[in-house]
Amino acid sequence: MSKKKEKRIIILGGGPAGIGAAYRLKELGHENWKLYEKENFLGGLSASFNDDKGFIWDTGGHIYFSKNDIFNKVFKKIQGKNYFEKERHQFIFWGKNTLIPYPFQNNIRHLPANELIKCLKDLADVKFLNPKNFLEFNLASFGAGITEYFMGPYNEKVWAHPLKKISFSWIGNRVSRIDLGKILENVILKKDEKNWGPNFNFKYPKKGGSGDFWQRFKPILKDNIIFGSEFKKIDLKKKKIYFVDGKISDYDFLISSLPLDFFIKNSNASQDSKMAAKNLIHNSGFVLGLGIKGNQPLELKNKIAFYLPQRNILFQRMIIFKNFTPHIAPKGHWSLIFEASFSKYKKLNKDRLVENALYFVKKMGWVKSKKGIVSKNLRRFEYFYPVPTLDRDKNLNKIQKELGKKNIHSIGRFGAWKYEKGNMDHGFVMGVEAVNSILNLK
Ligand SMILES: Cc1cc2nc3c(=O)[nH]c(=O)nc-3n(C[C@H](O)[C@H](O)[C@H](O)COP(=O)(O)OP(=O)(O)OC[C@H]3O[C@@H](n4cnc5c(N)ncnc54)[C@H](O)[C@@H]3O)c2cc1C
Repeated sequence: MSKKKEKRIIILGGGPAGIGAAYRLKELGHENWKLYEKENFLGGLSASFNDDKGFIWDTGGHIYFSKNDIFNKVFKKIQGKNYFEKERHQFIFWGKNTLIPYPFQNNIRHLPANELIKCLKDLADVKFLNPKNFLEFNLASFGAGITEYFMGPYNEKVWAHPLKKISFSWIGNRVSRIDLGKILENVILKKDEKNWGPNFNFKYPKKGGSGDFWQRFKPILKDNIIFGSEFKKIDLKKKKIYFVDGKISDYDFLISSLPLDFFIKNSNASQDSKMAAKNLIHNSGFVLGLGIKGNQPLELKNKIAFYLPQRNILFQRMIIFKNFTPHIAPKGHWSLIFEASFSKYKKLNKDRLVENALYFVKKMGWVKSKKGIVSKNLRRFEYFYPVPTLDRDKNLNKIQKELGKKNIHSIGRFGAWKYEKGNMDHGFVMGVEAVNSILNLK
């Protein structure tokens, strides 16, 4: 088909979702498309960065663990053999000498006796039959003890929102469900369940961090990508997109992976959609990387992450990054990544955050003095997690219905605004599916 007769498809955002759409168009030989990205690199939240000390940093630890055939096929084709396969050995940090294998609820046998007894008693005494929010879901599923010691404080840190304001419709297989019988069995038989979860086995690029995979698309797609182009606003009636630098682009179909609330705010969508978009809630986050001189302590061998439910530790999760691949830090060094969410409910001061992480690594005996830290990489992300509030789906349906009628597919972590579909592979596949739908393909 001549380029003129082809539908003109515009993609906004060059993260995994935008790349999924672009790659599918390329694969199909469709030529009439452009991708606009405000940065000068691909990958969005999943990109990796080199610092001037030779460390590589991800936005947290971004691992590949897809069950989707479309994604896995493309991963194999693009990444070849340039990745490691790993097991995700993660722990809940309970103190310097107590690590509880993840998930907490399956492995409470490691708790001190009093806490263990409370968890067991409370689980036997569960009251909520029909939970209405995420807090009640935790109380109903795990009892007050497990909720008090881990599920409550950890999730309050991750979401940075009161758990009463969050639904539990997103859970699926993301939280291990367990009953009293199973827990008792694990306690009595001293059994650990360490390999639970959809992401126990994962893949990670050998070199270049998580973003290595996404950068590999640049030579394939580059002729249709316009870097450094920041979306400003859209006229949904005239089908025109306006960019900050003055460019204007027309489209027949638009695939947007920009945050949905921002996109709608800068459009002439209906008042109904504008109201709904105002009620979409997200948190923000800091990611701190510490590059450390010397050898990684032996006690961290083969460990991938620590979950940190303690209120006096400002981070929710610490990633032992060198265990993903030795090429992530320069020779004779190792590195840690700390993740911390924040919001109007949970304010964070970035200087205190760095002090807090330094205090933690010193207290653990992993560095002797601040001089051992040769790199500090602190980055702030306005959009970190789309929060699954109680009215999220009602608001999303309203907006997506209007956009659908106007030939717009809003996809990806913040375009579709669904945490349960918020991983890299989900975004990529949404991009593929949007193109299939536009071109009436399977
Ligand atoms: C702490 C953390 C850990 C995570 N860990 C994992 C993991 O282990 N495994 C996993 O699969 N997923 C993980 N994720 C999720 C992963 O980051 C996302 O799934 C993925 O990056 C989303 O892709 P996307 O394309 O939807 O959005 P993004 O990656 O956010 O990409 C959006 C793109 O749009 C661009 N953009 C934004 N505004 C504009 C504008 N105005 N104009 C033009 N361009 C614009 C951005 O620059 C960006 O490139 C994690 C996320 C976080 C926050």
